[in-house]
Amino acid sequence: MDFDVVVVGAGPAGLCLARSLAGSGLRIALVERQAEAALASPADDGREIAITHRSQRLLQALGLWDRLRADEIGVLREALVLDGNDTDGLAFRPALAGAQQLGWMLPNHSIRRAAFDEVAPLPDVRLLAGTRVVSARTEAGGAQVDLDDGRALRAHLLVAADSRHSETRRALGIGARMHDFGKTMLVVRMRHAVAHDQVAWEWFDHGQTLALLPLHDPHVSSVVVTLSPMQMQALLALDDAALGVEMAARFGQRLGIMDVDGPRCAYPLVGVYARRFVADRVALVGDAAVGMHPVTAHGFNFGLLGQDTLARELRTALATGRPIWSMDVLRRYERRHRAATLPLYMATQLLAGLYTDDRPPAQVLRKLALGLGARLPAFRRSIVAGLTAAHEGRARQWVSR
Ligand SMILES: Cc1cc2nc3c(=O)[nH]c(=O)nc-3n(C[C@H](O)[C@H](O)[C@H](O)COP(=O)(O)OP(=O)(O)OC[C@H]3O[C@@H](n4cnc5c(N)ncnc54)[C@H](O)[C@@H]3O)c2cc1C
Repeated sequence: MDFDVVVVGAGPAGLCLARSLAGSGLRIALVERQAEAALASPADDGREIAITHRSQRLLQALGLWDRLRADEIGVLREALVLDGNDTDGLAFRPALAGAQQLGWMLPNHSIRRAAFDEVAPLPDVRLLAGTRVVSARTEAGGAQVDLDDGRALRAHLLVAADSRHSETRRALGIGARMHDFGKTMLVVRMRHAVAHDQVAWEWFDHGQTLALLPLHDPHVSSVVVTLSPMQMQALLALDDAALGVEMAARFGQRLGIMDVDGPRCAYPLVGVYARRFVADRVALVGDAAVGMHPVTAHGFNFGLLGQDTLARELRTALATGRPIWSMDVLRRYERRHRAATLPLYMATQLLAGLYTDDRPPAQVLRKLALGLGARLPAFRRSIVAGLTAAHEGRARQWVSR
């Protein structure tokens, strides 16, 4: 049970990291508390993930993209931000940055399935599923994790990819800034009479935040509602027919008749930013490092980017004869990933706070911010450019298939 790298958590980030490191000569263990059957055929968790152009390139390089079915891929052509009773709103169009579309929509469970299918056959990745890490520690010679079935794993480097509430992060004494928004987000796939036209809506209405994420079928979207936990309980108590009527009303009948078309999944909203991404013999990736509020749709995009950054640093270390656990190597990952994520994390926290606050000053600020955004095409252009830029000058030659 000795490895070069032990990754805790076979979520999208952990699986992608294992895939990125495969073929480098490193012996990798991937530990996951869910059973292997659940990883091979993940349950629909209602999350529809908006993917940027850079993430699409990374998914392609990792082999995941080609494992998605055509009907699992939705086109995100344009996004519209609405406030209160707005009907036109602030539009983010791809043409602002010379692109065809802002991004893509993929079901989270399809990403997980594709990642598992890609990783399962790899000879240098040992998957230990159906077992939980119960303790983790580092010492001079390496890191050790203990599993709930009594086994112990040792490694040169321990990577925590075990969610925003990472127990491994905590066991290793790495703190995190956490913000509980006191709100719950419901995601549910819905069929609607009016076609979505591949446009996403983010609608900051009084007393509720709504989003509409266009899926492959022109009449099916992922509907996202953010409410206080008490209001959410009342919404969740409705049967499917009543929920359809309620949603159509919440969307001001703009989408016509609406019918529930998938499981309802509710998520408490907590933003998390780890105080450090690395420590002696340790690195954090995915939500364990940066757990975003979903409003700016960047959690997985950052997770994918972070695992890629770490994998590149580890491969460079191998190529130049440095130990993969050297603090220089790990700190470079931390610096790069912090620089890539902190500004948007802070902006998202601010935005989520402002848009879930219904007191009059916040309402005025919102109107001002949207009005300013509408008058500043350069601002909108820079957001669109961020979503559509592939940012990857060089292809990932080293990803072995
Ligand atoms: C409603 C919603 C909408 C979202 N929309 C978007 C979007 O549009 N775009 C976007 O980029 N992101 C989005 N996200 C964020 C995205 O879903 C997450 O960032 C991503 O799933 C995190 O992946 P992860 O692998 O880091 O963590 P997780 O998916 O949480 O996986 C962690 C894994 O670790 C395992 N684990 C935990 N503890 C242990 C242990 N002790 N031992 C063994 N295994 C363990 C868990 O079982 C799990 O499989 C959204 C999130 C939500 C909630």
